[in-house]
Amino acid sequence: MKKHISLLAAAIMTAATVAAQIPSEYSVAPWHGFSQSAVTYSLDDLTSKQLPVAVPLFDKYGVKVSLNVVTTWVKPNEWPLLKAVLKNGHEVTSHTVHHKNMSMLSPEEFEMECRESQRIIKQYTGSECVTLVYPYCASGHKEISSKYYISARCCSKHIEPHTPADMFDISSVGVGLESDVNKAEEFNKWVDDGVSQKGWCTFLIHGIDDDGGYSPIESSELEKHLAYVTKNPDKFWVATFAQISKYIIERNALTIREMKKGNKITVIVGCKAQSPLTKFDEPITISRQLPQGCTTAKANAKNAKVSDGKITMDVVPGKTYKIACK
Ligand SMILES: [Zn+2]
Repeated sequence: MKKHISLLAAAIMTAATVAAQIPSEYSVAPWHGFSQSAVTYSLDDLTSKQLPVAVPLFDKYGVKVSLNVVTTWVKPNEWPLLKAVLKNGHEVTSHTVHHKNMSMLSPEEFEMECRESQRIIKQYTGSECVTLVYPYCASGHKEISSKYYISARCCSKHIEPHTPADMFDISSVGVGLESDVNKAEEFNKWVDDGVSQKGWCTFLIHGIDDDGGYSPIESSELEKHLAYVTKNPDKFWVATFAQISKYIIERNALTIREMKKGNKITVIVGCKAQSPLTKFDEPITISRQLPQGCTTAKANAKNAKVSDGKITMDVVPGKTYKIACK
């Protein structure tokens, strides 16, 4: 009995932090599309087959990834390729300027690695860079990384819960020869664990096939795994590190107000989180119970659909939507 009470208390606390300003008729999806878990592929160091082999393979399955670049290691001919990859929806993440162990740096050096890598990526690609990947998974001065980034990745080999304890210490699971995650089934086991924990599984990838990179994986095994993940969108929401970081921040700070007039509902979506670093405009999936006497409805929102007496749709903070009941 006692156990039940504490579980219930935990559930109430979670609901209170997540849905503080959400009317009771609404639910906010823990992960986009009400998928049961989230998955990110995070590729370090721009090893030589990441752009020519891995990215086309991910593209074949419609999967967007995060490429974590050390700005002094990027060859001049690779910047235009990275720009094209960004345009295609992938992310270019900072893996610092020099790939030093950040935990050994003075605050001034640490800040330079954060600031300059971000500035150089923006200069060469024209796109914002809002997430950081620590070299050697050594984090150091988080109060400085948070001045420049919304989240940062380490590699403590666990599934992150639906709301991570620390956005500047997000776990990842290393794969390849130096790890025990090599075969498609071993990748699949991790994402299945992500589903049972309703959490976020990030894979840390270095070398691809025989490209000479650290801890290589076989692209054929990766492909078998991608076929599994992309066949199950109800289980897995696959997105970049930045997209998922933004989703977590937004959904936990989401506000919904509504106005009802006749058979029309106006839905006003806001977000209490603000940042000078980026706009919180990642689409969030919500659902609303249909009002009594309303059997079906339409909404001017992306992916709007009705099932089980609810309308589900994607909303962006700062925007207003209309639901029309029939
Ligand atoms: Zn690295």
